[in-house]
Amino acid sequence: MTTLDRLTAPAALAKTPGRTRHVTLGARAIEELPRWLTRDGLAGDVVLIADEHTIVAAGDRVEAALEASGRNVRRLVLEPRPEDDHLVCEDGVIHALKAILAANRHAIPVAVGAGTVNDIVKMAAHELDRDYVVVPTAASMNGYTSLIAAILIAGVKRTLPARQPIAIFADIDVLAAAPAELNRAGFGDLLSKPYSNADWLLSHLVRDVPYSSAPSDLLDDVFARLLDSARAVGRADHDGLTVLMECILLSGFSMTIAGSSAPASGGEHLISHYWDMEQFDRGLPLHGLHGTQVGIATRLSALLFERLVALEARDIHPVQCAQRRPDKAWLDRLGDVHDTLSAPVVAELRDQLAQKQLVAGELRAELERVRDRWPEIREKLRAVLMPAAEITEALRAAGCPDRASRIGVDAARAVKTLRVCRHMRNRYVAFDLMDDLGLLEGWAEAVVAETEAPDASAP
Ligand SMILES: [Zn+2]
Repeated sequence: MTTLDRLTAPAALAKTPGRTRHVTLGARAIEELPRWLTRDGLAGDVVLIADEHTIVAAGDRVEAALEASGRNVRRLVLEPRPEDDHLVCEDGVIHALKAILAANRHAIPVAVGAGTVNDIVKMAAHELDRDYVVVPTAASMNGYTSLIAAILIAGVKRTLPARQPIAIFADIDVLAAAPAELNRAGFGDLLSKPYSNADWLLSHLVRDVPYSSAPSDLLDDVFARLLDSARAVGRADHDGLTVLMECILLSGFSMTIAGSSAPASGGEHLISHYWDMEQFDRGLPLHGLHGTQVGIATRLSALLFERLVALEARDIHPVQCAQRRPDKAWLDRLGDVHDTLSAPVVAELRDQLAQKQLVAGELRAELERVRDRWPEIREKLRAVLMPAAEITEALRAAGCPDRASRIGVDAARAVKTLRVCRHMRNRYVAFDLMDDLGLLEGWAEAVVAETEAPDASAP
């Protein structure tokens, strides 16, 4: 029994709504879809939801397979809003889809697409308390099996609770035909696993945040195979993409098991989110796909972690560190630091940061505890981390960009991002400890210089 079989077995037995109970991953997965619907007892019509690209990539084939089995299919090709050049997962389109699904009360929604289409259908289905099925068209992100969806609401990106698809039909021929950049982005997104996990573990060791190694353990085996498959992923080999998709589906499950995105989203994700926020706030296009950015950010985060676990207890000076932060007055001057962001966004950041930032006596006490337990904390972090050199090598082997300048973020901006992205979210991460120790500022400059240095082996 594979890990995926084990994870889907309880929902398969109980037919739990909103939980994945079936996965087909392989050749001719699309043709398996109609057979599974019948086996599962799902009668009725299908509403097939795609966008202009995914309808061609897989939608036509899905429609043909369903019609050949005698089902009526209503196809819905979602179009970008007039002001956008591509489809966006925003409240307007979700609302429109809900109206169509409500008018087809007994039809089964089948999403054909990747991040955007999946999230639109996931959210619309969830709000109507309906189940849906997905045919992924790229191994580009790990949200298929997560319980959350990323949605733009009144211009602000939010992560909302949603549901899993009840069944997933990942056709390897479809994935192999996807633009290479999409699958490589999925690879980059997954590389964050050891560092997200280390951030989560550190928050447990320093702040007593509940932690479990189970979500990370779930991925250990497939993650090792994924690293070995970097070159195969880059070439879109079927074997490589099968491992990638398996890892993507398990990664979504790991967040579902954890009840939060913590096992798959740590400080490295904040780097990528910060770049998105800056671009969005200025009405500029994003620098790259989510996973492309996360891959680069993971390399930076890995190098910062290496510096952190190289510290000795005697390098930690709680009194001096607390003197740098005597009170919270500096939080009112955050606008000076985030000079690329608008006032409402800065206010939101201030609110998030204030929830976790300790100052004065409290900061000193926390750092004293960290210093006293440092050998233990350091060993536990080392046990879950991976050498940064392996991340660099994996990115290059898969053909992913390995440095910020490759996606149009210059060194000065990358340094600044590393220094301040921790302000975005109230969740404690290693960047918080590094900054409280007074080390993040200098380290940020050093690791960006290191990643931007010319390298003969770089693509
Ligand atoms: Zn991600």
